[in-house]
Amino acid sequence: MAYDRNNVFARILRGEIPCSKIYEDAHVLAFRDISPQSPTHVLVIPKGEYVSFDDFAQTASAEEIAALVRAIGDIARAEGVVDSGYRILANTGPAAHQEVPHFHVHLFGGRDLGAMLPRR
Ligand code: AMP
Repeated sequence: MAYDRNNVFARILRGEIPCSKIYEDAHVLAFRDISPQSPTHVLVIPKGEYVSFDDFAQTASAEEIAALVRAIGDIARAEGVVDSGYRILANTGPAAHQEVPHFHVHLFGGRDLGAMLPRR
């Protein structure tokens, strides 16, 4: 799947639409989800053009991958959710209902997050 440079996170990265930024470094941007599902709901994204986790895992550099993982840990600590617990999640493709085609990791915390997946 080709990268769509008009997706909403690409536009946030270019500064064309605002976001509630909480973290930035050379490889990573993190901001609050516009429709939070828990008291802490942060989106952590690479600055590079990766469609999905699959794309990122296959083609990102070791430096970009390390930066994203370190950032997630740092943000969880800064948000104060390490002791209470938190969840990270990356929806990938249709079965997971990935809506935005720029790889992103959700970080949820600040309440009991319930079962890992909804029961069907
Ligand atoms: P996903 O289903 O994993 O692709 O999730 C996309 C997430 O992006 C959803 O939780 C949306 O609420 C969030 N989102 C969409 N547009 C924005 C935006 N402009 N700023 C912050 N979060 C957004």
